[in-house]
Amino acid sequence: MTQSTQPLVIRNASVLDVHVGTFSVADVVTADGKIRSVEKGADAPEEAQIIDGTGKYVIPGLIDAHVHVVASSADFRSLTWTPPSYVYAQTARIMQGMLRRGFTTVRDLSGADFGLAKAQAEGLLEGPKLHFCGRALSQTGGHGDMRLPGEDHEPNRKGCCGIGRVADGVDAVRAAARDELRKGAHHIKIMASGGVSSPTDRIDSTQYSRDEMRAAVEEAEAANRYVAAHAYTARAINRALEAGVRSIEHGNLLDDESLRLFLEKDAFLVPTLVTYWALKEEGRESGLTEEMWAKVDSVLNSGLEAIAQAHEAGVKLVYGSDLLGGMHRHQNEQFRLLGKVQPAIDAIRAATTTAAELLGRPGEIGITAPGADADMLVLTADPVQDIAVLADMADHLEFVIQDGAVIPGAAN
Ligand code: ZN
Ligand code: ZN
Repeated sequence: MTQSTQPLVIRNASVLDVHVGTFSVADVVTADGKIRSVEKGADAPEEAQIIDGTGKYVIPGLIDAHVHVVASSADFRSLTWTPPSYVYAQTARIMQGMLRRGFTTVRDLSGADFGLAKAQAEGLLEGPKLHFCGRALSQTGGHGDMRLPGEDHEPNRKGCCGIGRVADGVDAVRAAARDELRKGAHHIKIMASGGVSSPTDRIDSTQYSRDEMRAAVEEAEAANRYVAAHAYTARAINRALEAGVRSIEHGNLLDDESLRLFLEKDAFLVPTLVTYWALKEEGRESGLTEEMWAKVDSVLNSGLEAIAQAHEAGVKLVYGSDLLGGMHRHQNEQFRLLGKVQPAIDAIRAATTTAAELLGRPGEIGITAPGADADMLVLTADPVQDIAVLADMADHLEFVIQDGAVIPGAAN
């Protein structure tokens, strides 16, 4: 990984302990891309870059655990015939935007691949560190099958960036999961219910048999990875949790049994409300068809209520935006939505410590402590007092620091 070799010291800042939820004034010292110490009166290495943090607030770099960095259009279907060269030029811009909004790590839920993650890690591409799944696994006619009803060609056409691959039956699901793992996937994504951006399925359908889901979970677990499942309805959520899925993406229509299963299985919920908010605002201009737009409304209203119930029940909630096309700029708006149903510190945990746990990297990211990656935001206002500080990030972000390097152009 490309890292700044120059040490960095942030002097006399209010540094957030995310676990406890309080700030303490301290100096943060980084070297070789890691945090070395968080203490008062630290000695600065001679060649260190110094940032005066007096009156400023330092929080960990944020983690968005549901993004699609290749989604330059809200019409995923179009990605299967767009040239890769063009898609990746758009992706570079999207990833840069995410980093400059304070997201130093993202988890991609289909589209991104090994090449993008490698380019970011080598410093060829400015953007968040990338956890990716490659292509999502979908049944025929499922949320990852982009064929229109009139199309009879085989489903897995070789466009670079379609979000899904179709695999039916236990053996085919195993082979597809193994293939994504072979290509470096950090997690496996399965489509366990219908969705908004797919042409032939219904939101309330369940997708994949229990045996197929179980096969994906077994393959992921064999590689010490895990499965994330797209699911809206309680029926789909509960089947996926019973099959051993680790994170439920969206989860808008969960029920009491879902809440019980989340706790029993120690699973995570990644609600993505901001995408519905943004789809309603701008979806049609961004390429969403009329029928897809109509689906949005049916999943929007229940979302906030679901988050409130999950928070109340003690389910692990993780920050996810799931934005497409020109809507990526609303990425931070999810903080304002979360702030309606949970305390600000819990919304911050969703994008730091709890997200890091989901990604299998607790103590390494999402925390400002010795040994962690030196990913930090320097803010001019206190987001624990008012979560809108993170929603209106451009007004409050002074520096984005990733692997100990100050990101040029991200400061005010
Ligand atoms: Zn989804
Ligand atoms: Zn998604």
